[in-house]
Amino acid sequence: MNRTADVVIIGGGIMGMSIAYHLSARGCSDVILLEKDQQFGTGATGTNAGGIRHQFSTKVNIELSKRSIKMIERFPEEMDQEVDINFCGYLFLLDNDRDVASFKENIVLQHTCGIETELLDPTQIARSAPQIQIEDIMCGAFYGRDGITDPHSVLQGYTTRARHLGAQLETGTSVSEMKVKGGRIQAVGLQDGTWIESPTVIIAGGPWSGGIAALAGVDLPVQPVMRQIMVTRPIEGVGTDFPFVIDFSKSLYFHYESGGVLTGMSNPDQSTGFDTRVDEEWRMTHFSHAVDRMPLLEFSEVLTEWGGLYEVTPDAQPILGKLPQVDGLYSCTGFSGHGFMHGPICGLLLAEEVLDGSAKTVDIDSLRWDRFESGLIAGEYNVV
Ligand SMILES: Cc1cc2nc3c(=O)[nH]c(=O)nc-3n(C[C@H](O)[C@H](O)[C@H](O)COP(=O)(O)OP(=O)(O)OC[C@H]3O[C@@H](n4cnc5c(N)ncnc54)[C@H](O)[C@@H]3O)c2cc1C
Repeated sequence: MNRTADVVIIGGGIMGMSIAYHLSARGCSDVILLEKDQQFGTGATGTNAGGIRHQFSTKVNIELSKRSIKMIERFPEEMDQEVDINFCGYLFLLDNDRDVASFKENIVLQHTCGIETELLDPTQIARSAPQIQIEDIMCGAFYGRDGITDPHSVLQGYTTRARHLGAQLETGTSVSEMKVKGGRIQAVGLQDGTWIESPTVIIAGGPWSGGIAALAGVDLPVQPVMRQIMVTRPIEGVGTDFPFVIDFSKSLYFHYESGGVLTGMSNPDQSTGFDTRVDEEWRMTHFSHAVDRMPLLEFSEVLTEWGGLYEVTPDAQPILGKLPQVDGLYSCTGFSGHGFMHGPICGLLLAEEVLDGSAKTVDIDSLRWDRFESGLIAGEYNVV
């Protein structure tokens, strides 16, 4: 039995759900969201570290963060959903001249956007995070309105409200085909052999987005890259005021989590692929660097650990908006490790793109697919 919809959204993570909510809130009532798994948020959204920050190297990411983080702050009033937010600050630790120079430039840019990031000397770092070993650290970049929040509550808020506004949100429904005719999207085909005809299809498939776009013959350069996280049991000496600390040159990070510490470290040699099993060898490398940087982890007990997938693009920037190859086909993916925090604003922007012809709250021209053809690429440097 075939169906129709004004808009079909592929993917039930933070992006798809935020888009579903914002379209419905604008009065677009015939929206169907399709999620292949039995629950929403089992992809990158359910495996991330919950960090929210303004400290980026590109203006567009700073602007996305400014608006998105405010939207998360307003969640209880606007979405009727409580969300834990801890503005503990992000502290980037820098140990080489290149990073120091780059972060100094970024701080100037952040200041022009109203983000008052500070450059800390080692004495100030030791005061802010006394648990951290900083012998080799030259300086740090700190902004107190960065922090951590709870991705599940944000996803839940959008799910509840989108459904209330009439969006059809379906689990266990995988898109396996797309029909394109005369350069226009016509329909998506589901695994059960049925079709949904729609003039508008939005790809919000996270790490799976490259494969989804290929169903319409579109080359969307988004690769799945596994990243793993470890959480300890409660540790004495770490409290909620402990900042989100990032040892930038090692892509090693720590934040407070339920009395213990959540830590991750990105393997620069990780090959692309969908396998999310914890890599035991990398686990040892990670733990050894983590103990060097935060010695009190040495005697901590691991509570849990998991692997998740970043959705990575060549320039570590998302691919947003209309896809020029197929009329009616849109992309909201490729956030390369920092997408959860941009979920709220990107849902709003995609709703504007679909309903008004172009996103207007933030200028997303530098994030459109076209940049790969024009060569106008300004990659994000502050990637963890
Ligand atoms: C370990 C880790 C740590 C991270 N830390 C942070 C952080 O601190 N802060 C931050 O902001 N971001 C972080 N991120 C990144 C963030 O999680 C992602 O950028 C964001 O969640 C992407 O959301 P999404 O909705 O695009 O993708 P997803 O959450 O992956 O959602 C895509 C959905 O599409 C579904 N899907 C796929 N194919 C199909 C199909 N054919 N049919 C139907 N459904 C389909 C999938 O099942 C999935 O549920 C982290 C990511 C990881 C892995």
